Amino acid sequence: MTMNEAAQQRAPQQTKPQAGPQEKSQEKPQTRQPGKTMLVKHADVLVTMDGARRELRDAGLYIEDNRIVAVGPTAELPGSADEVLDLRGHLVIPGLVNTHHHMYQSLTRAIPAAQNAELFGWLTNLYKVWANLTPEMIEVSTLTAMAELLLSGCTTSSDHLYIYPNGSRLDDSIAAAQRIGMRFHAARGSMSVGQKEGGLPPDSVVEREADILTDTQRLIETYHDDGRYAMLRVVVAPCSPFSVSRDLMRESALLARQYGVSLHTHLAENLNDVAYSREKFGMTPAEYAHDLGWVGRDVWHAHCVQLDDAGIALFARTGTGVAHCPCSNMRLASGIAPVRRMRLAGVPVGLGVDGSASNDGAQMVAEVRQALLLQRVGFGPDAMTARDALEIATLGGARVLNRDDIGALAPGMAADFVAFDLRAPHFAGALHDPVAALVFCAPSQVSYSVIDGKVVVKDGQLATLELGPVIERHNRLAHELYQAA
Ligand SMILES: [Zn+2]
Repeated sequence: MTMNEAAQQRAPQQTKPQAGPQEKSQEKPQTRQPGKTMLVKHADVLVTMDGARRELRDAGLYIEDNRIVAVGPTAELPGSADEVLDLRGHLVIPGLVNTHHHMYQSLTRAIPAAQNAELFGWLTNLYKVWANLTPEMIEVSTLTAMAELLLSGCTTSSDHLYIYPNGSRLDDSIAAAQRIGMRFHAARGSMSVGQKEGGLPPDSVVEREADILTDTQRLIETYHDDGRYAMLRVVVAPCSPFSVSRDLMRESALLARQYGVSLHTHLAENLNDVAYSREKFGMTPAEYAHDLGWVGRDVWHAHCVQLDDAGIALFARTGTGVAHCPCSNMRLASGIAPVRRMRLAGVPVGLGVDGSASNDGAQMVAEVRQALLLQRVGFGPDAMTARDALEIATLGGARVLNRDDIGALAPGMAADFVAFDLRAPHFAGALHDPVAALVFCAPSQVSYSVIDGKVVVKDGQLATLELGPVIERHNRLAHELYQAA
């Protein structure tokens, strides 16, 4: 493959200047500088995820600024552009969408006390470690987690940060996303019901509800971009029904709808979670969500492993989304989410790697493969095909995040795509169906990733950041955190 180096060197001057947070809230970057073009050509196979789910041979894309202008066989695309990517020998797919994560947890992988516990015991063991998190730790761990996602095919991610000790802020995660170049849905999580009031988290890590709402409003006003192709959106996201009050859930929904931003939380993760809901609220988790106004196209819930038939019908009727996290569900022995039934009913389902403390290997393609395998364990060999799994991780994720500008390669969509080298050992012997092979063989790394029209991974290496020093710093901080607990 070749790349037009001269064009790439020109690119930075033509990149639109990054608006500072304060500027951004006053002026949304609606006007693009026209002109910078990118031609992607000769991909062996290009998966569009368009309305007809076309898979094109010897195909490519023509991109202007941050959006796709044309998709088709190479012969039908313009012959040149400012930047040219010749992707002969590659499979190109829409960038994968990760709908659930807790990136700070990449500091606390494989902690011995939390290796063999189910959800509530796992959380109880980890809260005391996380109580020592610092702003630097949040920023560095977010960079590391995003690097892992980017290198494994993800171009858009949400992150659910719900613990803010020692002056940590969501701004620390946002700074990391802007530095590394990932499309980001930053979820302002929160916990307000500590052990003293019958909740699960220690009292030292919960916040006052008034403070939570004030800070969430500040974040929306400072950062949230509701425009098409937005690189940054803010989400209102109390941690879970067992760590915040009914009032905060209600107030959060009101605040989110006042600003037109999405809502996110954990729901019906395992049987204990359901038992807590019945005992404390006298309702199933889905009934509780309904009662609080936590259903609709602007809401998505993580896990829903134990969502019952009435809950599935409710979610389908209201367009409420689910972030399916198969590795985490297996790691914590939570069960098998009824994804097939959800999708048949019409529930929007996306994929999530979940936090790195409950899915210690947060790789996106590996998660796609695991989604397929786990549905088959639960519901038989025809429960999910490779193409179903890929659709969940692209279009499904976009729908769950309430976006129609990502998840497919078609004119008018954001220029977010990734390329896998079909000459790598993972694909050997499977080239009769490279698309299925992507899911069944699960190569661990992309060779290219383009987000918002910019090359973020080139030849298998991050192009926006030198990763070695970040990982070194990450490991030093992880050690400090572990020692402090
Ligand atoms: Zn989670």
